[in-house]
Amino acid sequence: MSRAFNFSAGPATLPESVLRQAQDEMLEWRDSGASIVEHSHRGPEFIQVAAEAEADLRTLMSIPADYAVLFLGGGATTQQALIPLNLAAPGQAVDYVVTGHWGKTAIKQAKPYVDVRIAATSEAGGFRDIPARDSWQLSADAAYVHITANETIHGVEFRPFDGIDAPDVGDVPLVADFSSSIASEPVDISKYGVIYAGAQKNLGPVGITVVIVRRDLLERAGQPRADIFNYASHLKGESMLNTPPTWNWYMLGLNVKWMLAEGGVAEFARRSAEKAALLYGVIDASGGYYRNEVAAAVRSRMNVPFFLHDEALDKPFLSEAKAAGLMALKGHRALGGMRASIYNAMPVEGVKALADFMQDFKQRHG
Ligand code: PMP
Repeated sequence: MSRAFNFSAGPATLPESVLRQAQDEMLEWRDSGASIVEHSHRGPEFIQVAAEAEADLRTLMSIPADYAVLFLGGGATTQQALIPLNLAAPGQAVDYVVTGHWGKTAIKQAKPYVDVRIAATSEAGGFRDIPARDSWQLSADAAYVHITANETIHGVEFRPFDGIDAPDVGDVPLVADFSSSIASEPVDISKYGVIYAGAQKNLGPVGITVVIVRRDLLERAGQPRADIFNYASHLKGESMLNTPPTWNWYMLGLNVKWMLAEGGVAEFARRSAEKAALLYGVIDASGGYYRNEVAAAVRSRMNVPFFLHDEALDKPFLSEAKAAGLMALKGHRALGGMRASIYNAMPVEGVKALADFMQDFKQRHG
């Protein structure tokens, strides 16, 4: 077997020990006579798996008791539609700060239901920066303010500054898409109204989405919607209004246990800083051979898009990287170039191997 270092943006690499445990338990979960994927979601086996996953995630992320945690299907994109349906009145104003592709997706999903206002956008500059907080045009009557904590394609991440780790938007709830940076560093959840994330980058496999929502927001009337689109109903039904994605939930649980055992979010913050510094260091020291165009203060610790100085080198770069055991480095089609996604499960050694490869490639093709 030759598992490569996998820099995929998502679905993304998972810890080998988690995959092995899933393999070990595939045929039969803990002397229960069946695989967890064969048990009823209402049975005691899966109820235990689900409860442990929530308890462990609460510990990992220090989620306060006044926040509910929902485990839902449909991906982050579905939440981008459910958020306006649940938190805003029909046609009510909502503010979006757009710092990349996924902020635009969020707007597309919300538009049929609410009066979307773009409070700030860095699109004119090619999404290479985050508009300064004092330039945001927030509406006093907005139901919420939406940001994308980390833009997976553009490689732009909200970073703490002046000791403030989330932008201050006053009393209006801050809703944040954390799909590509959840649980990668300590976050003060109480600064947010809603945090949502598809699991497939930092938390586990694709197919399950985590929504962390301040409980009082679930009392809002929202808009006419089917029960299955109602967050309060999901909470009441313990995220089992219908058959949940049990295997994905189980895998997420294994992954969260692994994260706790590794030292929790503080340790992942330390590793992320080290990994990001390694890669940006090689790029910045390459004299323009490699290029990352994002403003230094908001460069993502999770997704590092970069370009070679000559596009003709893209193909050999990718094929030689693959031969060196470094896979999935091709950039998103919207940007081109390369992208290295270095989520929690990417070991520091993987990034060191990539950094060495990049320096070596430059020498050979310089
Ligand atoms: N938001 C962000 C920041 C993402 O990176 C992605 C997926 N790459 C999405 C939303 C969409 O997520 P999903 O495919 O789970 O709907």
